[in-house]
Amino acid sequence: MANSYDVIVLGLGAMGASASYQLAIRGASVLGLDRFHPPHEQGSTHGDTRITRLACGEGSQYTPFAERSHEIWKSLEEKTGLALLRQNGILIVAGAGKIAPSHGVPKFLEATVASAKAWAIDHEILEAREIARRFPAFDVSDGDRAYHDRLGGYLRPEACIGAQLEEARALGAELRMNEKVLSVRQEAGAVVVTTATGTYRAAQLIVAAGPWLPRFLAPALARQFGVTRQVLYWFRARSPAEHAAFSPERFPVFIWQPSGADGVFYGFPAVGPFEEGVKIATEGHDVADPETVDRTVSPREIEAMFGTFGRFFPGLSPDCVKAKVCLYTEVNAARFVLDRLPGQDRIIVASPCSGHGFKHSGGVGDALAQMAMGEKQVVLGAGRHVVDMTQFAFRPDDPPWKA
Ligand SMILES: Cc1cc2nc3c(=O)[nH]c(=O)nc-3n(C[C@H](O)[C@H](O)[C@H](O)COP(=O)(O)OP(=O)(O)OC[C@H]3O[C@@H](n4cnc5c(N)ncnc54)[C@H](O)[C@@H]3O)c2cc1C
Repeated sequence: MANSYDVIVLGLGAMGASASYQLAIRGASVLGLDRFHPPHEQGSTHGDTRITRLACGEGSQYTPFAERSHEIWKSLEEKTGLALLRQNGILIVAGAGKIAPSHGVPKFLEATVASAKAWAIDHEILEAREIARRFPAFDVSDGDRAYHDRLGGYLRPEACIGAQLEEARALGAELRMNEKVLSVRQEAGAVVVTTATGTYRAAQLIVAAGPWLPRFLAPALARQFGVTRQVLYWFRARSPAEHAAFSPERFPVFIWQPSGADGVFYGFPAVGPFEEGVKIATEGHDVADPETVDRTVSPREIEAMFGTFGRFFPGLSPDCVKAKVCLYTEVNAARFVLDRLPGQDRIIVASPCSGHGFKHSGGVGDALAQMAMGEKQVVLGAGRHVVDMTQFAFRPDDPPWKA
């Protein structure tokens, strides 16, 4: 039947692009739909870089996704010649005094160590003096400690999405951009998706709508997801010579819980020339709606960011060359939801964000493809990990998400 597919993927951002690619690899007939033209700057997946790390302080259940993703990025790099993944090391720094939790985890450094041990990931613990010796751009204090491994690093999210969509299309996926899905419904034997210009049917639907997801859920389930406004800042180094200290060879990606600060911040090496600055960010808590969120960044926000966190890098100037607004879709305990909609066995919902989803997106796409193709188990990666997907189930009885 025309307009009929094995799987429709709603949303072609980080998760939808990878699911489409993995489905196309498996020979499924796939229709991908997006209301914009990914990669774009309206959702959760823009801003040049995303941290990747295999040892996950959020819980060691995430590691198989990150590991599988690394395999996928490397194979895509071989196919396309693009630079997607750079493993220049990760530093998780914790101050000695009172520190803010990271992704809801108070002792994020210790939790990262536990995850590294669980997966036998080579790592070191560095005291302040050693951090300063190896990474002089960081102005650490006495008592600061860091977890360091060489497998972490950063990804180029726009290029990852673009590469997966191109490959999916080359393998036969039909991708329709700038086509907004208006409704989805499951009926006997199929799921029906209606857009502004067409009606499509499929055996399975994957809803990967990022911060627009709550619109596709009944109110009781939608309340378990909270969308928050996040800001990314690029500050210029004080001089071209100081910019060099932020190069990927000398400066790892980092997550830092500074002693006494009202928050956690994270950042990346400079991936461009001096004029493009160095990206750092903290986490915001303002509830947002993707349709109405303020996408401008005020001088007051920039000043507050530099005032609170800029001081940890004496080589950075307060000159903010760029700032962008992005959106988290959060679930309590920074959980992922990768599950069928309760009572609707043809609709799979993918909401792996909670501020840490991109690094897992390649592997999540693989898992979603296996689910949509009716595999009994999700098996990931060279380690052939059988993933217990009940960990990522909807929990309708959980309390609503709390900002
Ligand atoms: C500021 C920030 C920093 C982050 N840092 C990191 C990090 O360092 N490391 C990390 O691992 N993760 C990080 N994350 C999390 C990660 O980026 C997200 O988990 C991931 O991008 C989520 O992808 P997604 O596919 O769910 O959403 P998106 O990429 O936003 O995709 C959703 C897609 O659905 C489409 N869509 C929505 N509604 C419709 C509709 N009605 N019809 C058709 N299409 C529709 C949208 O247009 C969009 O393209 C960060 C997130 C943010 C915001």
